[in-house]
Amino acid sequence: LDQDALRVISVLQRRGEHEAYLVGGCVRDLLLGRRPKDFDVATSARPRQIKDLFPRLGRIIGKRFRLVHITFNGHVIETATFRKAPRKSEDAPDDLLIVDDNEFGSAEEDARRRDFTINALFLDPFSLRIHDFVGGLEDLDAGLLRTIGEARVRMAEDPVRILRAVKFATRLGFRIESATWDAMCELAPDLGRSAKPRVTEEIQRLLRSGTALGAFRMLRACGALRVILPEIDDHLGAHDDPDPAVHDRADTFWRLLEALDADVHAGHTPDPAVCVAVLFLRVIEHAAHLDARTHDAPPQEIASAAAEVLEPFSLAFRLSRRDSGKAIRIITLQRRFTQTPSKRFSPLVFAKSEDFREALDLFRLRSMAWGQGWDVYEGWLHRFEEAQRSPPEELELARKRTRRRGRRRPRGDPKPAPP
Ligand code: ATP
Ligand code: MG
Repeated sequence: LDQDALRVISVLQRRGEHEAYLVGGCVRDLLLGRRPKDFDVATSARPRQIKDLFPRLGRIIGKRFRLVHITFNGHVIETATFRKAPRKSEDAPDDLLIVDDNEFGSAEEDARRRDFTINALFLDPFSLRIHDFVGGLEDLDAGLLRTIGEARVRMAEDPVRILRAVKFATRLGFRIESATWDAMCELAPDLGRSAKPRVTEEIQRLLRSGTALGAFRMLRACGALRVILPEIDDHLGAHDDPDPAVHDRADTFWRLLEALDADVHAGHTPDPAVCVAVLFLRVIEHAAHLDARTHDAPPQEIASAAAEVLEPFSLAFRLSRRDSGKAIRIITLQRRFTQTPSKRFSPLVFAKSEDFREALDLFRLRSMAWGQGWDVYEGWLHRFEEAQRSPPEELELARKRTRRRGRRRPRGDPKPAPP
């Protein structure tokens, strides 16, 4: 148990005489024998009362959904007051989508407004008593992911819960209870109404999870992929398409996700731009009529296909300029890894360029997925390490040389992103 969280709970209970528990993901993970990512506290104390008990360490954050961050040497314990299920919007009483979520309530009400039964357990760390208002312990035992209350209603209230269901089911290896699954399939079209940054955040989490392959297969099966990433769903074709080319295309996409998972298991944390690039690489290469294995296409065509596919997506999903620009550039740069050095192309300058690290990460994933080019990857890794040690004068010299020889920017290099 986390000592800082214990301190928070102890002060709330003993000095403030409030109810206070560990709650949510940390209780679930502790019971499953997994290491919790963070320890959240829920309490009957109001934000102001929490703050008064921790005058120096506590900070009230959030305008609408106010909670208190209590910080011990940079380690934050998020402490929230029990809330009840939101009331329906008065303007549109039939619309279930949650708009306001900030009314205080009891511990039981707080449990019931949460998403899944396994996420709604309260643990008193001193008595070691677990408060289970929703049958979470039983589902945890059975390895079952189930919404609290009526699945269709809960998914309609917040369709991002569909993505969260996929995340928890794949991460924990849980089965999805059948009414919950049916509701996911039925309400997947509503994901189009959810706030885009939340959707983007969940997609990125799934990609970094180490179970991206299973997660994306599940997204496709419930129809969510069709709604959130229609280009990719199209690219994968129909499940039963007899055309071997379609099957092959889908296969290379799944293999890239498999490679990403292997990379995560080997201890890498993929850059968000690399994750986006993995998602769209095959769609872009296909649009540029590129042969996946030889990576042979006019460079300009890849650059423009990358921009054409990724820019609308980045806009719609509010991707940061940094991530979308980088994703486009590292896809375009892939051909550099197999280019022979010339007067215009200095491997040293390339290895020292801004996007090299992420471009090489993408190349590694491609090598893993296609099962070739690993030797090329290792060669570049070696060159990269050498380049770190090379004196600045050497780089300057190589830069001058390529600049002089290749008067213009070599064709196909992505244009620098606007500031
Ligand atoms: P992780 O290990 O990924 O952090 P978590 O269960 O802690 O998993 P969070 O996203 O950190 O998930 O949310 C904390 C808790 O808040 C959840 O366990 C759940 O009880 C509740 N919660 C989060 N998002 C929602 C949602 N969209 N609807 C209802 N409850 C939610
Ligand atoms: Mg959490």
